[in-house]
Amino acid sequence: MKFNETLNDIRLYEAGKPIELVVREFGIEPSKVVKLASNENPLGTPPSVAKVLSENATKAHLYPDDSMYELKDSLAKKYEVDSKEIIIGAGSDQVLEFISRSLLSSNDSVLMSKVTFAMYEVYAKQVGAKIIRTPSFVHKVDEFITYYKEYKPKIVYLCIPNNPIGDCLTKKEAFEIIDTIDSDTLVVVDCAYMEYAAYKNSDYFIAPKDTLKYDNVIYLGTFSKAYGLGGMRVGYGIAKSYIIEQIAKMRPPFNISSLSLAGAIEALKAEDFLEKSLKLHSEQIVRYEDFARNNNIEYIDSYTNFITYMFDDSYNSTIIADALLKQGVIIRNLASYGLNAIRITIGTQMQNDRFFEEIELLIKR
Ligand SMILES: *Cc1c(COP(=O)(O)O)cnc(C)c1O
Repeated sequence: MKFNETLNDIRLYEAGKPIELVVREFGIEPSKVVKLASNENPLGTPPSVAKVLSENATKAHLYPDDSMYELKDSLAKKYEVDSKEIIIGAGSDQVLEFISRSLLSSNDSVLMSKVTFAMYEVYAKQVGAKIIRTPSFVHKVDEFITYYKEYKPKIVYLCIPNNPIGDCLTKKEAFEIIDTIDSDTLVVVDCAYMEYAAYKNSDYFIAPKDTLKYDNVIYLGTFSKAYGLGGMRVGYGIAKSYIIEQIAKMRPPFNISSLSLAGAIEALKAEDFLEKSLKLHSEQIVRYEDFARNNNIEYIDSYTNFITYMFDDSYNSTIIADALLKQGVIIRNLASYGLNAIRITIGTQMQNDRFFEEIELLIKR
């Protein structure tokens, strides 16, 4: 059988290892395993959402509301946009896929930062598009502008803040780039971690109504990170309605389960949970910054819910990540991105204690 040639060039996404696997492989007690690998909310499912999920458990035989009226309405009110300007995906990942499939063909190219969210490349390659990357691993305004002018890509991906590095363009810088891009190129502004960036410094806050001033920009948000619903798979795109109408043609019916819809609607109401999550994060990330400074480890000032430690030749990220894994501490090795670096999701105080306990043993003073 001959599969599409576009597939030859696609690397499978390396997902964070689940806790069960570490328990099985290394025989560690489940309670001893900490997962700081997938940027999940360490406080867990918002309690009010857990309650709604169980209340809805007996409605699993019914198809969900395919118009997603209530979720779109809640998002529209929150962001001061129109419901027609919103599309809901099974994670913002699925919206990325819709975008790619509705705009790209094998004659097109897309532009992204050297190190950024791995799925931009995968979805673009699935439809045969060519990947162009700026030279620096953090987003640089001048590089995006120069590369845009030179290659005229069909899509420009701005990951604000950027995963897996944690760097973040300011609002002003982001719009400096957006302002130079012609209307026949779509700019994807992926704000999966925007809640964290805005909490840290309001100069970094980008709202969907800012990007909606443009005819060629789509804002992406997700319930998977700050809202604590990674397992429910709900994300959204916000753009001018003519864009939404087109990419919606790629959407399978009932792409969000009824439980996920109910959970997401409830999560938007759980403002205390969000606030508590952001506060915990801002208190705990300081410990990671202090540890890095005290041990001469370079780190990127992070606007997300994780921190990236960049090692020099004294350490090898694969050896460190494997050694931590054997002790039940799951973090993300960034070797596959071409970096000698690890990415750690900031956990609860106790989870972070475990991380420091184990990394102390691997770092020579
Ligand atoms: C986590 C993440 C997403 C999407 O996550 P979903 O769970 O699919 O909503 C999108 N972009 C970036 C940069 C992410 O880190």
